[in-house]
Amino acid sequence: MKKYVAALLALMFAFTACAAQEDAAKRSAVGFYFDTVVSITAYTDDAQLLDRALEQCQKYEQLLSKTIEGSDVWNINHAQGQPVAVAQETLEVLEIAQYVSGLSQGAFDVTIAPAVSLWDFAAEDPVLPDGEALAQAAALADYTRLVIEDGMVTLPADMQIDLGGVAKGYIADQIAQFLRDNGVTSALLNFGGNVVTIGEKPDGQGPWRVGIQNPDQSRGAYLLAVTATDMAVVTSGIYERGFDLDGVRYHHLLDPETGWPVQNELSSVTIFAERSGLADALSTATFVLGTEAGMAMIEALDGVEAIFVTRDEQILATSGAAALVVSNG
Ligand code: ADP
Ligand code: MG
Repeated sequence: MKKYVAALLALMFAFTACAAQEDAAKRSAVGFYFDTVVSITAYTDDAQLLDRALEQCQKYEQLLSKTIEGSDVWNINHAQGQPVAVAQETLEVLEIAQYVSGLSQGAFDVTIAPAVSLWDFAAEDPVLPDGEALAQAAALADYTRLVIEDGMVTLPADMQIDLGGVAKGYIADQIAQFLRDNGVTSALLNFGGNVVTIGEKPDGQGPWRVGIQNPDQSRGAYLLAVTATDMAVVTSGIYERGFDLDGVRYHHLLDPETGWPVQNELSSVTIFAERSGLADALSTATFVLGTEAGMAMIEALDGVEAIFVTRDEQILATSGAAALVVSNG
């Protein structure tokens, strides 16, 4: 009899555990890190989990920020050419960056920092940087002189790095993994245009959908929507950070050759990949390359797709991307 009761109890426990899993509560958290709104929606019974996820964001900001004194990036930028020991995570971000720099032949280049520093896209009365100074700053960019060896990073004394084009995506991957490690099977993270999904929506509601912004309309107006299951969807566009002056759009995606915002036919590029760190660097790289060279780069990669939106609102997609689109608007 005792045995029977024990078995029954075990069975009941198994059932409640199972039910708890299915009924995991919807929880949301919003924070502001890396100069960006970070939002997480996850299904979990752990009421503290999302607070812990936001604490992790803070940890990564302390590591990868260019402006926080003592961060790994700050240390690299102030080492006067000496090798710097950095965290494993910093090495991983730099390795993604260098990989994409090589793929894009320098269209993506984290050593663009001196040129980035001459721009203030958020200023109330934005001004153009001095042309001469910008040319000199851009001439310093050369990712091949950033050396990663034996866990150490070395950068020539006059150079600087800026991980703004890759760090958010990498951190989104890390936070998604943290949630998975804590039992989350359904979540959507959005780190300022870097979206990562875990699984599908709960209770058979189907896959997560992610909107691709209509560049001409206010935030939240979508040109089209895509399905995303266990996928990263990352957009780089000219409408997020930038200003208009004398009919020209000055935005934060810079040509490493000149330091000036890239002026091509594109308004935005959205990359789909398993990892958002890679997708983030690729979105910036693809934008800088433009439609033709960008399309060729993405088509040559396995498991990566792209959607291009041009300034005149044409939509172009790599061969596998059309299958992800579920609706217009
Ligand atoms: P966001 O998600 O903030 O819109 P992106 O991923 O589109 O950022 O990358 C833009 C940021 O990357 C810029 O703010 C700057 O810090 C950096 N950046 C700009 N141009 C380049 C480039 N050609 N290569 C690498 N990083 C760049
Ligand atoms: Mg990017």
